[in-house]
Amino acid sequence: MSHSVRDCSCTCSEFLEEYLVAGFHATGIVDKKEIRSLGSIIIFLTGRAEPGPMKAVVCAGREAELAEIPDPAPVPGEVVVEVDACGLCGSDVHALAEGKTAEGQVLGHEFGGRVVEPAGPWRAGDVVAVNPLGSCGRCRECAKGLHFRCAAKPNVGITAPGAYAQYVAVPHDQLVALPDGLPAELGAHAEPLAVAINAVRRAAIDPGDPVLVYGVGSIGLNAIMALRLAGAGVVVAAGRSPGRRAAAAKVGADEVLDTRELTVAEYARRTGRRFAAVLECSAAPGAIAESLDVLEPGGTCVEVALTDEIAGVPLGRLVAEGLQVNGSCAFPAEVYDEAVGHIAAGRAPVTDLISERVSLAATPDALVRLRAPGELVRVLAKPNEREF
Ligand SMILES: [Zn+2]
Ligand SMILES: [Zn+2]
Repeated sequence: MSHSVRDCSCTCSEFLEEYLVAGFHATGIVDKKEIRSLGSIIIFLTGRAEPGPMKAVVCAGREAELAEIPDPAPVPGEVVVEVDACGLCGSDVHALAEGKTAEGQVLGHEFGGRVVEPAGPWRAGDVVAVNPLGSCGRCRECAKGLHFRCAAKPNVGITAPGAYAQYVAVPHDQLVALPDGLPAELGAHAEPLAVAINAVRRAAIDPGDPVLVYGVGSIGLNAIMALRLAGAGVVVAAGRSPGRRAAAAKVGADEVLDTRELTVAEYARRTGRRFAAVLECSAAPGAIAESLDVLEPGGTCVEVALTDEIAGVPLGRLVAEGLQVNGSCAFPAEVYDEAVGHIAAGRAPVTDLISERVSLAATPDALVRLRAPGELVRVLAKPNEREF
């Protein structure tokens, strides 16, 4: 990959290389062996890495594999970002396992990194979080905040090549700066937190309201953090995976139910507790019906998990008790900005969720292991690190 991380352009770097070679030859201060190691001096001086195809994790059947693919070719208005970290998202895990990906597709949409080929207001070396969702800002979907449905702009890692790769080309207006001194890795947490903040908005809770988070995958765990940011009252989380239930308590849940031992319905019956809102993040069969059962009058259930279930809705209660059922998917750009702001200010304990960092070579295996997470909570791919 031939990119400079300093302010001089790639062309400048090439000039510098030629200039140094010519200069050293002229003065005779280095022998041939030292000339051969000049490449490493150039990298040190200019930040350039060795040119060549980049490494990426590509979809192959129901699994993924490490491959070498061409460097991204940015079109005008796009920057190239050197990926520091990309979260392994449950939607990627499920899409692969269910054979819903295309051969050779590069997934990965939760990422942060450094600008190596600037465009717009950005400079080489800027540390950024990347909003993967494109938005034209003019269509009806964009006007409603449904940016992920904008047909005019692709979504990175979904309909455009993603960040399980060393480098990604992305429109410059999808970058959000991280404050000086913060690690680029933090950018990987903004996308799932933005999904959760949007879901909490759709629940329209008031401060102090009791809320149930049904399912403690990445989005459920981020929802707990988003509820704390929104001033929710008692937050009860319900899930199966032991590692993730422990994480739920760590990031702010007051009570955590093991749904293998106690159903949500049974918990509500025993305690008499009802909720102002339920964020259904599990996609477990029957979870939506159970969620509606534990709502208080006027309560809202937000379905956040993608599921094919056709659920029955108790229309009598819906009418008589003024219940609401909302769907929430992704987020508009301003919610992504808000998520970056919370992370940059240290208001959301996102790093508490990290259980492993893996190289690109180890990413295909991690995507398989996450099908049955056990103690695993959140795994970050580090595409420009060789091993851990
Ligand atoms: Zn995701
Ligand atoms: Zn649009």
